[in-house]
Amino acid sequence: MKTLNTVPFVSVENMMRLVLELGIETCIEQIAGYIEEDFAKWQQFDKIPRVASHSREGVIELMPTSDGVDYSFKYVNGHPKNTRDGLQTVTAFGLLASVETGYPVLMTEMTLLTALRTAATSAVATRALAPKGSTTLALIGNGAQSEFQALALKKLCGISKVRLYDLDPAASQKCARNLEGSGLAITIYSSAEAAVEGAHVITTCTADKQYATILSDNMVGSGQHINAIGGDCPGKTELHKDVLLRSDIFVEFPDQTRIEGEIQQLDDDYPVKELWQVLSGEVPGRESDDALTLFDGVGFAVEDFSALRWLRDALQLTGRFVDLDMIADPDEPRDLYGMVIREVERMANERAAA
Ligand code: NAD
Repeated sequence: MKTLNTVPFVSVENMMRLVLELGIETCIEQIAGYIEEDFAKWQQFDKIPRVASHSREGVIELMPTSDGVDYSFKYVNGHPKNTRDGLQTVTAFGLLASVETGYPVLMTEMTLLTALRTAATSAVATRALAPKGSTTLALIGNGAQSEFQALALKKLCGISKVRLYDLDPAASQKCARNLEGSGLAITIYSSAEAAVEGAHVITTCTADKQYATILSDNMVGSGQHINAIGGDCPGKTELHKDVLLRSDIFVEFPDQTRIEGEIQQLDDDYPVKELWQVLSGEVPGRESDDALTLFDGVGFAVEDFSALRWLRDALQLTGRFVDLDMIADPDEPRDLYGMVIREVERMANERAAA
């Protein structure tokens, strides 16, 4: 089989246009479907905690996985101090490849795609774990991820009211402005305590490279569901340990979450349930109306794999990519050197013809 030597590449501009053409909420809903499909065949995936290179200011990570047919990886950073310099906390790009040939089949920006898939994952978890009839979301941390999180929970979980809180009021105002016309009723609060009181679902997506206490035990009540997605590397958490001790805790891949998630504060053998097991019906999700459920989301490679699969299919409809000449592909596979020599001849012919 001869494989094409160009690789479709989705730039930030093309990703924005694709998302606008399909609609942000539709994209999130579709990605959620791909995530559920892949979580249903969880056992087939190669799974390792992501490979992290830590520095004082942040982390750079590689996130590989494969289901035996496709292979993917994402390069992603997390640098909370970046926004002070006008840079993003999280940026990413990634690649999907064929296991059969080892050739890349898609390369793409993944900063936007990560926001979409993180929102889709929160929605998948919320749909499985939040109390039935939840309508009110408290969103603590109103940065880059926040609007995507709100829209995902509106589209997939029936959220209609969003209460915003951020240390920086300008971030909440930005989020409220961006969500105008979304159909969500938005209120900005001046403290996290006020924002979470009475909310059915709480999503924390703050960025700070420390053991922070965004939610303390007295702030959360029974019957609530928490998505804690901002604590996602060693030494970076959002919840007080006492909240964890009261919660039914659900995670993506325990080996990674015990290193990076809220549960890094607990013993290594502290019992947690895996989201894929809930989705497949193997273990119960919410066990009672007054249970406190916690999705300790750190972001796992399988979700990126799902997002990349979604994008590959979405490109068939939108054609929003350019071809990258990134695979050296000589006519005679073993004659890589000859391919270079023939390029000299080709360039000389071009000059002569000019
Ligand atoms: P961001 O820097 O754009 O926004 C973070 C916001 O949190 C800022 O507006 C900041 O003012 C606010 N904040 C910081 N400390 C706070 C506090 N104590 N109380 C209230 N607000 C506070 O970052 P982002 O891209 O929105 O990402 C948010 C977090 O989510 C980051 O830590 C990032 O690493 C993490 N993240 C996780 C996943 C995942 O899959 N779980 C995916 C993407 C990002």
